[in-house]
Amino acid sequence: MIPFNKPYYSGKEKSYIAKAMETKILTGDMKMIRDCESFLESKYNFGKVFLTNSCTMALEMAALIADIQPGDEVLLPSYTYVSTANAFALRGAKLVFIDSKIDHPNMDEKSIEALITDKTKAIVLMHYAGVACDYSSIQSLAKKHNLLIIEDAAQCIDSYYKDSPLGTIGDVACFSFHETKNIHCGEGGFIAINNESLVSKAEIVRNKGTNRSAFTKGEVSKYEWIGLGLSSMPSAISAAFLFSQLEKIEKVQKRRLKLWKNYFNKLKGLQKAKKIQLPIIPTFSSNNAHIFYFVCSSESERNGLIKFLYSNGIQAVFHYQALHSSPFYKSKHDGRNLPNSDKYSAQLIRLPLFYDLKAEDQELICSKVIEFYSNIDVRN
Ligand SMILES: *Cc1c(COP(=O)(O)O)cnc(C)c1O
Repeated sequence: MIPFNKPYYSGKEKSYIAKAMETKILTGDMKMIRDCESFLESKYNFGKVFLTNSCTMALEMAALIADIQPGDEVLLPSYTYVSTANAFALRGAKLVFIDSKIDHPNMDEKSIEALITDKTKAIVLMHYAGVACDYSSIQSLAKKHNLLIIEDAAQCIDSYYKDSPLGTIGDVACFSFHETKNIHCGEGGFIAINNESLVSKAEIVRNKGTNRSAFTKGEVSKYEWIGLGLSSMPSAISAAFLFSQLEKIEKVQKRRLKLWKNYFNKLKGLQKAKKIQLPIIPTFSSNNAHIFYFVCSSESERNGLIKFLYSNGIQAVFHYQALHSSPFYKSKHDGRNLPNSDKYSAQLIRLPLFYDLKAEDQELICSKVIEFYSNIDVRN
């Protein structure tokens, strides 16, 4: 079986973990964690980085840092992972879902302004497959209506909007180092705080609601409970694992991009024949090759293709189920149709893409996709 994903290993994980173990301190704000944070801050120009034990945790921190209260409205895409929404639902926010674009799973910026009310507190972006949303129009909306921009940049390591790394433009941005992402530490992530006025709040949230970091810096004489907080820090074991991967990021990205482009070129013919829609990378965005997906012309065709590939030893998968029509939120949603989000839920397929994917395996995957479509007529 060719799996959908195989986590990357740098080869240095064990020796770095051994080094961390020798320090005999595996928790707290220690050097291994600081090394990862500094690496990210200097390579990508984030404001302040705090490593977390997941992107989900980073999003939950973001909702606390943004001081989301019951009844506040938060704008977010429907076509995204549940963690994007959960973080704000946990604070009692009303979720106002935005449809995807007709030609891209990312949210349609043009439909945002009509949904802003005087209760709207934040816009949450999710950059699908590491491809940037159009920041410029979102930034001007946020400014005009005094909204925070929170980024679910889980898939965005080493991706850019023009010359800016994704996750440097929003007030806060959340990234994932889950083992399905380009680089990882099993479970992990970080939050980047770009709005300086939110850094001290973030430090309190990160220290379980205490002013411990002010205490450590000698600014107060004892540390106390001063707000809501979370247990968000990874252990030194995870940080050591991660550091070995951060060092290899260029190598990983180069390989993934090569595989991504190869898929694109091999499947171009199917797009020309109007059988599938290949991913679009807008000129303002780079491509970090996090996902190779395409859009089939119907749900039954997509499911048939997944089955056909599986029967040929290839694990291809669908992706998000639109949150506005989920069992949990359907009855709470305001009833607007979001047809593009539904389309991607029904028709999008992802092909195996990982560092160790062999050339001959990729060849086989492409030939099987082409074989499947040789039996399917063009519709439209
Ligand atoms: C992977 C992912 C998450 C969750 O990341 P974890 O680190 O597993 O919590 C959240 N949002 C998006 C868009 C993701 O792709």
